[in-house]
Amino acid sequence: MSGSNPFENLQEQLDDAAQYLDVGEDVLERLKHPERVLETTLSVEMDDGSLETFKAFRSQFNGDRGPYKGGIRYHPDVSRDEVKALSGWMVYKTAVADIPYGGGKGGIVIDPDEYSDGELERVTRAFATELRPFIGVDKDVPAPDVNTGQREMNWIKDTYETLENTTEPGVITGKAPENGGSAGRVEATGRSTMFAAREVFDYLGKDIEGASVAVQGYGNAGSVAASLIDDLGADVVAVSDSSGAIYNSDGFDTRKVKQYKAETGSVTGYGAATDELSNRDLLTLDVDLLVPAALENAVNGDLARDVQADVVVEAANGPLTPDADDVLTERGVHVVPDILANAGGVTVSYFEWVQNRQRFQWTEARVNDELEALITDAFDAMTDAYEKNDLPNFRTAAYVVAVQRVVDAYEGSGSWP
Ligand code: NAD
Repeated sequence: MSGSNPFENLQEQLDDAAQYLDVGEDVLERLKHPERVLETTLSVEMDDGSLETFKAFRSQFNGDRGPYKGGIRYHPDVSRDEVKALSGWMVYKTAVADIPYGGGKGGIVIDPDEYSDGELERVTRAFATELRPFIGVDKDVPAPDVNTGQREMNWIKDTYETLENTTEPGVITGKAPENGGSAGRVEATGRSTMFAAREVFDYLGKDIEGASVAVQGYGNAGSVAASLIDDLGADVVAVSDSSGAIYNSDGFDTRKVKQYKAETGSVTGYGAATDELSNRDLLTLDVDLLVPAALENAVNGDLARDVQADVVVEAANGPLTPDADDVLTERGVHVVPDILANAGGVTVSYFEWVQNRQRFQWTEARVNDELEALITDAFDAMTDAYEKNDLPNFRTAAYVVAVQRVVDAYEGSGSWP
């Protein structure tokens, strides 16, 4: 795999999974390209009265299993190819979780730190105006991604509803609870990571109680995963953020570390009986479970040779390079892939959409129970495929399950003349 162009990487992953499936070249070719990509230029008035232009994209990769679903990213590195690739990965994430969605993704080429709140609101509303004919509760349902959150989702919903002269909260997910957001959404990614860790330990006949755990990245996904895995009786002995890593062989009180980070801005400096480590050292600690929950490409092929964890559960998207994946497979380290382990985020987005359509709010307990059922079913489907097809690793198994579901939906729809 080249590693350079994310869209080519996606296409190669599909080819890899297809080796184990009965899918024709023609169908595979169809599934390798987005159905459509909107590319637009937003012209927005700045606070000083000048006009500035921004490139923006929305890729609708595949809608055979339901409305396109996926986030909107604000970042200077957003590109057409990145958006296309991310929209494709959403197709397989929603398929492996077996929620009735396709995959989409959007983005604006912008560094949000450079703009005022008012400017960001006008940029967001300009994008929402361009998106309006393409999105809709049964067409394409965006969500937050890097540098966007509840605030941006609320602006998009409000713009859409105003232009359409309707109330349709299900047009977008990741909203604030008072604007139609779901209970449990903020914790959902960390929670599905915990379910994945629990299931894989059980599958491998290992005891999660007393297991030692290192968590890279102590943000939304990492800190919630750490606390919920801690609640299972494991010992979270090391955590890190961009400022560095900390280690305590007795295990941390994960909620106190979170509180400390909220107060001081970092995990480093926490507690008296704590050793400071480098971020690299955390990744190669001799622990039972490693949870990468920071950024993509955290572990490359070289580093993977030094990883001592027996199991890796990917809370982050793409934390292992393809080389690292090969090395870990060769070394017998079991990796639960991102498309399953962090699927809690999109799954609870789906529950938000269901609640919006029902005009009925679920309790947090119901959200968590439904999430548990979907993630454990997804895990079982992955391990069934792994065993039945004698696959090299869990990632390939998850893709085999997902691609088969998309192929079935595509072929089941018949052909359009
Ligand atoms: P976040 O910004 O809340 O947290 C990221 C954390 O990583 C921060 O604590 C940051 O300091 C730390 N970090 C950055 N560079 C680091 C490094 N080199 N070493 C150690 N720590 C480092 O982000 P998040 O929402 O928790 O997302 C984390 C990952 O999970 C991303 O890959 C994201 O795509 C993925 N993810 C998140 C969600 C979600 O719902 N939040 C859903 C699916 C996937």
